[in-house]
Amino acid sequence: MPVITSISGIRGTIGGTSTGALTPPEIIKFVSAYGTIIKRNSPWPVVIVGRDARISGKMIENLVCGTLMALGIDVINIGMATTPTTEIAVILEKADGGIIITASHNPKNWNALKLLNNQGEFIDNDTGKEVVELANKIEDIKFEEVENLGQLTKNTDYIHKHIDMIKELELVDVEAIKNAGFTVVVDTINSVGAIATPMLLKELGVKNIITLNNIPNGDFSHNPEPLPENLVDLSNSIIINNADVGFAVDPDVDRLAIISENGEMFGEEYTLVAIADYILSQKKGNTVSNLSSSRALRDVTQKYGQEYFAAAVGELNVVEKMKATNAIIGGEGNGGVIYPELHYGRDSLVGIAMFLTYMAKKKMKVSEIRKQFPDYVIIKKKLNIENKNVDELLKKVEKHFIKYNPITIDGVKIDFEEGWVHIRKSNTEPIIRIYAEAKSKEEAEKLSDSVISQII
Ligand code: MG
Repeated sequence: MPVITSISGIRGTIGGTSTGALTPPEIIKFVSAYGTIIKRNSPWPVVIVGRDARISGKMIENLVCGTLMALGIDVINIGMATTPTTEIAVILEKADGGIIITASHNPKNWNALKLLNNQGEFIDNDTGKEVVELANKIEDIKFEEVENLGQLTKNTDYIHKHIDMIKELELVDVEAIKNAGFTVVVDTINSVGAIATPMLLKELGVKNIITLNNIPNGDFSHNPEPLPENLVDLSNSIIINNADVGFAVDPDVDRLAIISENGEMFGEEYTLVAIADYILSQKKGNTVSNLSSSRALRDVTQKYGQEYFAAAVGELNVVEKMKATNAIIGGEGNGGVIYPELHYGRDSLVGIAMFLTYMAKKKMKVSEIRKQFPDYVIIKKKLNIENKNVDELLKKVEKHFIKYNPITIDGVKIDFEEGWVHIRKSNTEPIIRIYAEAKSKEEAEKLSDSVISQII
C-alpha cells in the first residue's frame, strides 16, 4: 500500500520499495518539506521530536533528526514520549514545531509522522497540502552548509513535566484519589503508555497498580486498537484482582478506553461523556465533539444547561471548533479527550486523572457512573459507490431530509428525534461510510436504512 497522506499525518508500512511503503527516502522527503516550511517563520528554528515504542521508531527517529539538522534546524529529541507529551513539549520549549513518530492504533509494521505547528497542535490542511507538494519537489529543497547545521539535544524529562502539569490542574484532586485507595489495572500495549501510565498512577497516589503488556518494545501483544475484542485480558484481570477500574490506551496514548469494576466495557464513546459530566459538574462551559460521536455528550451538556457543538471529523477540526466556541471540554467518540486548560490535543493521561477524581469525589463505582448516561448504540456501515457521483448522492440525501436541517460541514448528518445518521465519503476508498445512532440497534438500523434507500 502506498504512503497515505492525510491531515493527521503521513502513514505507511515498514519494508519494501518507496512505491508501496514508508521508506527512508519517503521519510526524508516529507521531513525536508516540513522543515523547509518551519524555517520560513523562524531565523533560529527548533523542532521537538518524540516517538512511541514501535520497533521502527529508533530507525525513523534517526532519519527525522538528521534531516532536520541538515536543514539547519535545532532538534530537541524527547525520546519515547506520548503524542500529548510531545505536543506539550512544543509549548514548553516555545519550539517552532514538532514531529511525533507513531502510527497510533495501527499494527506494529506501520509507522507514521504526525506534524505539529508552533502551538503543539496538528498543522492545518493548507500547510499539510504544502508539505506534500514540496515533498514531491525534493530536488529543489536547499540544505545548509556545514557551519549552519542544526544541533541535537536530548531531553527525556517531558513525561514527568506532563504529569506534573496534570497534577496541578484545578479539577484533578490527588488527595481524593489517594484517600480512595484504588486498585487500577492498565493495559499499556507495549508502547509509551507502559512508561507514562504507571508513572501517572503512582503520582496520583493510586494504591495498587497492575500493568499488562508493560514492556515498551513495540512488539504489541494484541491488536493495539483499544476495542472490546482486544481487551479481554484486561477485563479478566480486573475481576481476578478485584480492581476498581481498568484503563486501556493506544500506542501513542491519545485514546482512552475504560473498563468497569465488573469487567464490562464502559464503551469508548462514553470516555469523553463521563469526563465531560465530571467537568461540567464543577464548572460551566460549552462542549464539542465530532459529528460521528455519541449524542450522549449533547444530552449531558444540556443537563447542565450548557451548549453542545459538533465539528467535522478529525482532531484538527474538533480543536478549531473548541477554540471558536470557547469550549471547556471536547474530543472524539473514540476515547479522545481534549482538555484545553492543559493543551489542545487528545490526551489519555489527563483523561485518567479526571476519571479517577470523578470516582473518588463522587464515591461512585464505575458501573454506577456509566448507568447515569443514556444508552445509545452506534452502528457503522460501508456502501460501495464505484462509478457513482458521490457529491450528487450527498446532495440528494440532504434535499430529501431538508426538514431536519442537515449539517453539511463534513458529508451529511441528519438529526432525527430518535437518533442520527451521518454519511461521508472516504478519502481513500470508493465507499460511503454510514454511521447511525439510536437507543437500540434496531432503531439505528431503521434510521440508516431510511438514508441508504436514498442512495441506492
Ligand atoms: Mg493514537
